[in-house]
Amino acid sequence: MMKMQEFRTSVHRVVAGVVALAVMPAMAACGSSVDSQSASNSQPDKVEVVVSINQWESLARQLGGDKAEVTSILSNQNVDAHDFEPQPSDIAKISKAQIVLANGADYDAWATKAAGNSSAAVIDVAETSGAGEGANPHLWFSSEARSAAAKEYLAQLKKADVADSDYFDAQYTKWEKSEDELKQSIAEAKKVTEGRTYAATESVAYYLAEDLGLKDVTPTGYMQAVTNDSEPAPGDLKTFQEMLTSKSASLLLVNTQEQSSTTELITKAAQKGSVPVVELTESMPSNYSSLTDWVKALVESIQKKMK
Ligand SMILES: [Zn+2]
Repeated sequence: MMKMQEFRTSVHRVVAGVVALAVMPAMAACGSSVDSQSASNSQPDKVEVVVSINQWESLARQLGGDKAEVTSILSNQNVDAHDFEPQPSDIAKISKAQIVLANGADYDAWATKAAGNSSAAVIDVAETSGAGEGANPHLWFSSEARSAAAKEYLAQLKKADVADSDYFDAQYTKWEKSEDELKQSIAEAKKVTEGRTYAATESVAYYLAEDLGLKDVTPTGYMQAVTNDSEPAPGDLKTFQEMLTSKSASLLLVNTQEQSSTTELITKAAQKGSVPVVELTESMPSNYSSLTDWVKALVESIQKKMK
């Protein structure tokens, strides 16, 4: 089970490097001994990539390798991604980027809007994957959306830096290999999960559950209230609790980033009914090095708990 971790932003490190570079261009230009971080940032031929949310950051780094400078705007897990308000400096970063990788589906409307006003090539994962504007926005948990995002991002990297096309192709192949391993884990887990039921405190793992062949039985009234950011009616909460105490769902998924007294009552009901509980977060925890590793760990955890 995942524990809440302390989340450090890598953005600060990257930004510090850029600032240091800006104040001493002469030194960098004549190859003076700047520290290795600044030195790596000083290469002018890197593609400038901005990622709106940290869930897509690792994919951006894996494909871009050392030919791309990747900055993620939202990387603090204590911030509710649904309500994030960017600073003017965040918008400035987006307008200077060559490629902006955004989630779309209204999850990071600030990013798609700012990117639309810039000359950056914009990858809107919701659009690229065909999920569309009104779709469930937690697209990083979707196998199809990850692949669509990676393909489109690869195309944009090659457009931005034609000379390094072969390099980006090789990086993509490495990424695809890890995604294929995840697909194998999903196929393996499906032997346990396919056709079984689950309920969720929030629709964060909707696509992951779909990939696992799980059937969503979360009471409609409850889910509608949560989706509209309102408190579920007492009757809807009671229906949910009874569903769990009577073991009418085989799994409960809890988004620990959207916890409340209500979700605690639901978790307690699951424990009472011996329904396995898997906790997960919205943003990528810092103890995973990549999105595929994180999703793989969740898949394995669900498989193990539902056995
Ligand atoms: Zn969410």
